[in-house]
Amino acid sequence: MEETIKPSQQNDQTDVRRESISQLVKGRGKEDPQKSGIKKPDNQNRFRLNLWYFVGFFLLISMVNTFLGEKPQTIEFSEFKQKVISGEIKRVELGDKYYVGSSLVQADQQGNQQLGNSTQVYRTIPVNDSGFIGLLDANRVEYYTRPVSFGEMFGNVFLTWILPFGLMMGLWWFLSFRLKGGAGGVMSFGKNKAKLVSEGDTGVTFKDVAGADEAKEELVEVVDFLKNSTKFDEIGGKIPKGVLLIGTPGTGKTMLAKAVAGEVGVPFFKMSGADFVELFVGVGAARVRDLFQEARKNAPCIIFIDELDAIGKSRGASINGNDEREQTLNQLLVEMDGFDSKGGVIILAATNRPEILDPALLRPGRFDRQILVDRPDLKGRKAILEIHSKNVQVDEKVELGKIAAATVGFSGADLANLVNEAAILAVRNNRKKVMQADFSEAIEKLVAGLEKKSRVMNEKEKEIVAYHETGHALMAAFTPDADPVQKISIVPRGLAALGYTMQMPSEDRYLINEEELLGRVDVLLGGRAAEQIIFGRVSNGASNDLSRATDIVRKMISEYGMSDKFKNVYLGSNQTSYLGGMQTSERKEYSESTQNYIDEEIAKTINNRYERTLDLLKKKLDLLHKIAKRLLEIEVMDAEIFNSFLGTEHQAA
Ligand code: ADP
Ligand code: ZN
Repeated sequence: MEETIKPSQQNDQTDVRRESISQLVKGRGKEDPQKSGIKKPDNQNRFRLNLWYFVGFFLLISMVNTFLGEKPQTIEFSEFKQKVISGEIKRVELGDKYYVGSSLVQADQQGNQQLGNSTQVYRTIPVNDSGFIGLLDANRVEYYTRPVSFGEMFGNVFLTWILPFGLMMGLWWFLSFRLKGGAGGVMSFGKNKAKLVSEGDTGVTFKDVAGADEAKEELVEVVDFLKNSTKFDEIGGKIPKGVLLIGTPGTGKTMLAKAVAGEVGVPFFKMSGADFVELFVGVGAARVRDLFQEARKNAPCIIFIDELDAIGKSRGASINGNDEREQTLNQLLVEMDGFDSKGGVIILAATNRPEILDPALLRPGRFDRQILVDRPDLKGRKAILEIHSKNVQVDEKVELGKIAAATVGFSGADLANLVNEAAILAVRNNRKKVMQADFSEAIEKLVAGLEKKSRVMNEKEKEIVAYHETGHALMAAFTPDADPVQKISIVPRGLAALGYTMQMPSEDRYLINEEELLGRVDVLLGGRAAEQIIFGRVSNGASNDLSRATDIVRKMISEYGMSDKFKNVYLGSNQTSYLGGMQTSERKEYSESTQNYIDEEIAKTINNRYERTLDLLKKKLDLLHKIAKRLLEIEVMDAEIFNSFLGTEHQAA
């Protein structure tokens, strides 16, 4: 349960305090305890009530004024003067804003003269006329200046002083309550957003999360720690404090965090980064403080911050820094540093843009553990489909494996949506159970929508990517000294890459010779070369490869002195240099003709290497086909399977 101080409780407490204080005060003498200002909430209420009395009083007065007062006829000043001269106006009240003239004079008992009801009253806006008083005298018209009535005076004071002051006070109260995070009740702005889901509520365990095996493996450790924190303590192992889950939306990051809480059986606090970002400076920081306070009270527990990037954006990134966000981020850093995970609070956070996070967040003692939550591969997708199709009536003949094969690039959430969509279609088709056809229809529907917003590939694209990645992998395998292939994947990763080939550096390298650099270029060109050989044309999917290859060659020529003409000459770069995202200067350290030479040399080298790469891959065409076909089936290929294809041939090479 969320712990908030209820107003009644608070009053009880203050009552007790007031009693003891009033006793104290009584003992000392005549001071009124009410005036000592101890009972703050009450005072505030009274003051606010008084304010409302004032407002009501003022409204009443102005209403009475308008109802009882004469409804004067407004006329032009010249006409007013005429009526004075003609004798119709007998009496004139010289006001600030108006002159009010009446035709008849009445006196009441008090001797106060008043403009009677039966009189005709004229009103005019005065013109600066110095002869007017003389005119009144000449016509024996009574004239006077009325003292400002209480209502008017009060109205003026109210409008010019009390109202603005009151508004300002009101605003100040409002803000101060928001900043403090509230004294309970309606005012606890800072608190009410941190949703505390108790252990029974998350009800999610690792069994409910399919696919993300690597992520689960790492999180099991966190679970272990929370379950046996004393054991960890005794052994003195390093205890994780913050774990960052990285992955595109819908890949199950929230689910994983909930599963950790569910596995251990501890409370789970969830808040989204966006919830911290508020209009008012300081509110976000107050919320962070509240969240951690609450968590400490409920330890052991899990804090989960979704969309960490919303508050964790790099502080230096923008020149016109956002104070509010910065304060919030600082508060988060302070809170994370300020507690010891031995207390049993572990912070999980999720983001799909780790690159924009403030580096301070990733430092040891903060989110020093990062777990990639990838889109699921074939096996994972099948498992996810199995989990979600448990909730609907699925025909026994439905082959989830086939559906999984047709949904490359779908995230867990997409797959959950797919099952749901298929069920809807089944109902629409008057079926009792969901059939394969419903799934196919749903896939078509979803793919059309998803292709626009994320990377969902059609069959042809998948094939191209498979050959492309195999090209990289084969070049890595057959280039002497190249890092061995660790993993090939055609499951889209992030938004940028359609597939990837991971090479494992066999050792840390600081010095790389010319041959090795060119070998790297070959591996990079392998993707496009494979496309060229198999499909007879190339796609735009290789532009990142090309830019990296070109970069290597450019550096070889201009920085490493590895060209024929400028052997052992450092040319430097004439690239525009960037500092912290700001363009600072443009250097040019060599002549136009040298630049031309470099450009030509780059083109020549890349061409040479590309020809070599084509030759080599053509010789391995058989392998290229075999591996790419297999990759299409299994989507992710580890080193073991890859090497089994190479077999003895590799040893010979
Ligand atoms: P994220 O936090 O990464 O954006 P969520 O955890 O909110 O993703 O996932 C949204 C929904 O997608 C979940 O409620 C679940 O139904 C489904 N889902 C996502 N990934 C998986 C998975 N690996 N296994 C089962 N269901 C998943
Ligand atoms: Zn590539």
